[in-house]
Amino acid sequence: MYCNQCGKEINKEMRFCPFCGAEQKRRMLVSPTFLKKKKLKKKHKEKARKEKQRLINQTRNKIVQKNLVK
Ligand SMILES: [Zn+2]
Repeated sequence: MYCNQCGKEINKEMRFCPFCGAEQKRRMLVSPTFLKKKKLKKKHKEKARKEKQRLINQTRNKIVQKNLVK
């Protein structure tokens, strides 16, 4: 990777540029808060999926009941 300050090629593992000392902000770095949020989102998605499934089942039951009445 290249230093975002001076543009010199540096080791991507380096947090600070050895040439100018600028801190390297890694875009790929995942913060714990981000992971937490992702996890929460997943949980939310799961809940939404279950709710959707429940609604589908409800509708299906209604259709079955209608067919039985007929
Ligand atoms: Zn630099």
